[in-house]
Amino acid sequence: MFQYRIDTKMEKSPLVEKVLFKIARQWIAGDTMDDALQSARQANKNGMNAILNKLGEHMVSKPKINQTVDEYLTLVSNLRKAKVTGGLSIKPTQVGLALGTKECSKNLETIIEQALQDLAFVWIDMESSEYTSDTFAIYLSLFEKYERLGIVIQANLKRTQKDLEMLLRKGAKIRLVKGAYHESPKNAYRTRHDVDENYKKLMKRLFDDANEFAIATHDSKLIKMAINLSRKHERKFEFQMLKGIRDELKPTLVKDGFAVAEYIPYGTNWLPYSIRRLKERKRNILLLGSSFIHS
Ligand code: FAD
Repeated sequence: MFQYRIDTKMEKSPLVEKVLFKIARQWIAGDTMDDALQSARQANKNGMNAILNKLGEHMVSKPKINQTVDEYLTLVSNLRKAKVTGGLSIKPTQVGLALGTKECSKNLETIIEQALQDLAFVWIDMESSEYTSDTFAIYLSLFEKYERLGIVIQANLKRTQKDLEMLLRKGAKIRLVKGAYHESPKNAYRTRHDVDENYKKLMKRLFDDANEFAIATHDSKLIKMAINLSRKHERKFEFQMLKGIRDELKPTLVKDGFAVAEYIPYGTNWLPYSIRRLKERKRNILLLGSSFIHS
């Protein structure tokens, strides 16, 4: 894991930020809602659903949180006006989880109510493990009222198998990911092999017993396994991938008749999201290194 670490002090240097931005552009629609809508229309044109996320996390200022809620309300009605199919993905800490579950739940409900009118599906992203239990609690209380609502489970966390069984009993709509946050060995599997093995187990359970779910990965072997499982079990599921990653594979899955969605982040707060993408892949770190040489 060591070679994937980037020094947090380094992230704050203007030169590093400039070089990072050049690389990060491929993963982000742009600064504005118009940029996001344009990328979403393109995803639809390419046969995919669009899942939009306004970049931002760990917000503690009420005015900023309210601004984010307003942005999502405008976004969701603009999606309908632009006839975009898809929905939203929201990080709990961008709508108040750092201030408490009540604040977060109230804000999410405001957005979900609007999304319901505009026929958009809402996903609640999962952040680092200090928020996992609260995020599930918020999800389950809202899911009792709103059906078009999904939650994320992370294969890197040791607790996830148990959480999945609980969510399956409630009929939850689940997105399975590997997990993007740095976690302690006490809570999480730390090797790629262990995370992948857990992902496979969780995916099998989804194909056995879930109604509607998403396989969110760019990993060819896991995608192949999902395709094989889908031949044995007729299930409503979609592949989900991030904007700018595995763009060569997305059209093939669409052509083969699978539902595919593209997760499209936008906004000016691009750094934490981009650092996570960068750390996921050794080649991205090398790219960062060579960009320095050529900058
Ligand atoms: P990896 O083993 O990381 O990658 C497999 C292959 O995919 C690589 O070999 C490479 O070919 C390609 N690839 C992967 N990442 C990159 C990259 N950055 N640049 C270039 N190529 C790459 N995580 C959370 O913790 N919470 C969430 O709510 C959440 N939501 C997500 C929603 C979607 C739609 C997706 C696709 C991911 C989400 N993630 C979330 C991120 C996820 O946890 C992983 O960190 C991320 O998807 C990378 O894991 P992977 O499954 O693609 O496998």
